[in-house]
Amino acid sequence: MENINKNSNFKVSVLTLFPEVFPGPLGVSLIGNALKNKIWELNLIDIRNFAKDKHRSVDDTPYGGGAGMVMRPDVIDSALKSIPDFKGRRICLTPRGRRLNQKKVKKLSKEEGLVLLCGRYEGIDQRVIDYYEFDEISIGDYVVTGGETAAIVLLESIIRLLPDVLGGKGTLNEESFSDNSLIEYPQYTKPRDWNGINVPEVLISGDHGKIKDWRNKQRVEITKIRKLDT
Ligand code: SAM
Repeated sequence: MENINKNSNFKVSVLTLFPEVFPGPLGVSLIGNALKNKIWELNLIDIRNFAKDKHRSVDDTPYGGGAGMVMRPDVIDSALKSIPDFKGRRICLTPRGRRLNQKKVKKLSKEEGLVLLCGRYEGIDQRVIDYYEFDEISIGDYVVTGGETAAIVLLESIIRLLPDVLGGKGTLNEESFSDNSLIEYPQYTKPRDWNGINVPEVLISGDHGKIKDWRNKQRVEITKIRKLDT
């Protein structure tokens, strides 16, 4: 894969009511090492610090009625203004957004940085999303409790594509969704016989042409089956 982001210092600001969630899984293994090595930067902004009243409220009841609370646009506006010299894209994590896929992930990994807005409760006042032209992204057609989980999924997928993050430890070209919409072929390792189940014969044939053909066929087959499932 081409080197997608020439700027190795990918700046991420996360606006959240729960900064303690981070870095979470982003602090370990290859993504965590990349954070330590400053390949990417994580700036956490606690939205509650920008509350306007003595109770530090960040939400209010929805206009038009209905259950739950909605995050206030004025509070988020102040939190956003605290980010210095922002370059990149603003993203709001929401189930109402366009569904995330690998094509979008690759595109976002070429940005200089990202501002991620994590919702809670019933969500965020739409005016601030529209005013700042947030890209609304969903991690799938289901609802989680907060945008933090979605932000972690998004960052995991993007940061592993930055130059020097995987090093020699991954094969980005052959992964699921890498070159087209195909899913990866099944993988096997030792022992050759496990519980009486053998590794497919072709993989131990030493014939690289046959192995390549078998893997390609598997990718097409499994993609067909999984697509029918959804
Ligand atoms: N009332 C919202 C709805 O019906 O679409 C759900 C709000 S959800 C309980 C609270 C927050 O979790 C959202 O504002 C969003 O930030 C985050 N969230 C939940 N599911 C998500 C998903 N599938 N993708 C991205 N973010 C999600």
